Amino acid sequence: MTKLNSQIPDGPLSSKWSKHKADIRIVSPANKHKLEIIVIGTGLGGASAAASLGALGYNVKVFCISDSPRRAHSIAAQGGINAAKNYSNDNDSVYRLFYDTIKGGDYRSREANVYRLAEVSNNIIDQCVAQGVPFARDYDGLLDNRSFGGSQVSRTFYARGQTGQQLLIGAYSAMNHEIAKGSVKVYSRHEMLDLVLINGEAKGIVTRNLVTGELERFGAHAVVVASGGYGNTYFLSTNAMNSNGSAIWQCYKKGAYFANPCFAQIHPTCIPVHGDQQSKLTLMSESLRNDGRIWVPKKKEDVEKLRKGTITGSQIPEKDRDYYLERRYPAFGNLVPRDVASRAAKERCDAGFGVNDQGRAVFLDFTTAFETKGRKVIDELYGNLFQMYEEITGVDPYKEPMMIYPAIHYTMGGLWVDYNLQTTIPGLYAIGEANFSDHGGNRLGASALMQGLADGYFILPYTIGDYLSHKIQEPKSDINDPAFAEAENKIKERINHLFNIKGTQSADSIHKKLGHIMWEYVGMARNEAGLKKAIEEIKSLKETFEKDLYVPGENNEFNQELEKAMRVSDFLEIGELMALDALNRKESCGGHFREEMQTEEGETKRDDEHFMYVSAWEYKGENKMPELNKEPLIFENIKISTRNYKD
Ligand SMILES: Cc1cc2nc3c(=O)[nH]c(=O)nc-3n(C[C@H](O)[C@H](O)[C@H](O)COP(=O)(O)OP(=O)(O)OC[C@H]3O[C@@H](n4cnc5c(N)ncnc54)[C@H](O)[C@@H]3O)c2cc1C
Repeated sequence: MTKLNSQIPDGPLSSKWSKHKADIRIVSPANKHKLEIIVIGTGLGGASAAASLGALGYNVKVFCISDSPRRAHSIAAQGGINAAKNYSNDNDSVYRLFYDTIKGGDYRSREANVYRLAEVSNNIIDQCVAQGVPFARDYDGLLDNRSFGGSQVSRTFYARGQTGQQLLIGAYSAMNHEIAKGSVKVYSRHEMLDLVLINGEAKGIVTRNLVTGELERFGAHAVVVASGGYGNTYFLSTNAMNSNGSAIWQCYKKGAYFANPCFAQIHPTCIPVHGDQQSKLTLMSESLRNDGRIWVPKKKEDVEKLRKGTITGSQIPEKDRDYYLERRYPAFGNLVPRDVASRAAKERCDAGFGVNDQGRAVFLDFTTAFETKGRKVIDELYGNLFQMYEEITGVDPYKEPMMIYPAIHYTMGGLWVDYNLQTTIPGLYAIGEANFSDHGGNRLGASALMQGLADGYFILPYTIGDYLSHKIQEPKSDINDPAFAEAENKIKERINHLFNIKGTQSADSIHKKLGHIMWEYVGMARNEAGLKKAIEEIKSLKETFEKDLYVPGENNEFNQELEKAMRVSDFLEIGELMALDALNRKESCGGHFREEMQTEEGETKRDDEHFMYVSAWEYKGENKMPELNKEPLIFENIKISTRNYKD
């Protein structure tokens, strides 16, 4: 088993990052322009990194799948971004944000990384305000805050229900400034299809121009992957349709370890699945749990009437409602973390109290908030979310409670990175949702934007300098090197193979089958038999894919079916690794709920003695078992305990 070196600096937790910054090497301004960096992705992670690296003077090439960098999936983020400013004067602090995040992740993340995240959170807000991000303000003129799950303070900065969009406009403006200066060049509609290594170091990529089909080679001194998460392995998720796991999967196959693949987040407040023709699920932001109360009827007769449509939720009197989160978790109530709220919804629905025709929904109700705060205030806070709900469901949430159900939303797993955000391949960095770094077994709400921007604005720009300081005299990487030709030929062969299968099933239909397997056996509840079954079924689906796929059209044109086919091929392999990791982790923690490991009350039961580690999987070749490497997690500043959101 390889020994992973997480490069965590010595010294007290609160001074590790300052000390590290002082210790690492830097590149002088006169040398930065000689160095080239490739950034994959223009979401909040990639755009903030590209803008910051360009501003430092590096030569940056940034790639995205969409027609504009601004259409990255980050734009969908609704509810907000955390920071420990303590503007609400409610006793927040860097330590408290650190503590909440470690506890929220069920003690499966690194102390040093999480502390640094909390530490730089405040800089992010200053940076974004300076860029003109229109955060909501209160009457005193300070930026306003609301609460998200897993904390007892209000530390979430927001711009109505469009926080991701506003933050991305800020990062995109900063990037545009660098584009105008010539330090950043954007390649839209270019999909990375392979990572190129020369002498074991990341030296470039091969992309496919999504409009012409042309394969192109790009060389650099370092490569940064900010390609987002792999939640779409489940087919139905709240992620953008283009979100995929392919870029990180290519890196994995070239030697970057994949950490904690089974840690996927299920978000409790999504619009329930309706019918079997959907290809996307819609999130209703966690911010709604500030004022919305979650309940199901106490009486089965009411459930029956709801399902038949003879009554609506608003007709059920207060005394007959079970506000089950408030009942089970008095201290945190409706603001328990996502994994806890999701499981509680499933428990009520499994017990027969689900309120829609399929029995797979609970209510999110604003009646109390309308009465206490008034409709105008609620409208200002969540107006666009209410409109969105009505447009999709046809039900007016001002009159009737919303119906919600858990859905796949985020992946905590990703490429293994050390404290410098470098993967196990020298010169290859991973940031944002693409890495595994900070959220352990469960991410707290409003912490993904914080992590993506922390990585891109404040961490990577320092740590990558340490690596690049050794590359100043190294010439630009040569795209005529045989390693580029080899990667390109493999891609050509793969594309030809996919067209030549000439079977009967579309990539989408196979993806949908994968989604069913994943949700059934690697979803909210997992067990040994189910996970073994998932692995077998995925293997057989992979065979179907290789024998019966149909890809219409040609390669040398805009061909979304071909794009999908390549991504689904990777999702099949990612799904298998997720199931394998889940099978190996015989404990319940965060979103990973092994039915064999639960308390009498149905809560997660960790096994710290055997599983207090990051699982880091190493690719060993086609159809070979990957090797499990373990990074032990050491807690020196937090007393580990069973998570408690009751008191
Ligand atoms: C509906 C929704 C609401 C959310 N709300 C919040 C919230 O309120 N607060 C919060 O903290 N988090 C929220 N999240 C989570 C958060 O939005 C994401 O985790 C975060 O935006 C991910 O940012 P990223 O930069 O890592 O990746 P992304 O934004 O996913 O960007 C990935 C980029 O990589 C590019 N790319 C991918 N593959 C390739 C390839 N092979 N070649 C070239 N380019 C590629 C894409 O084109 C894109 O530009 C929400 C998520 C969803 C789905």
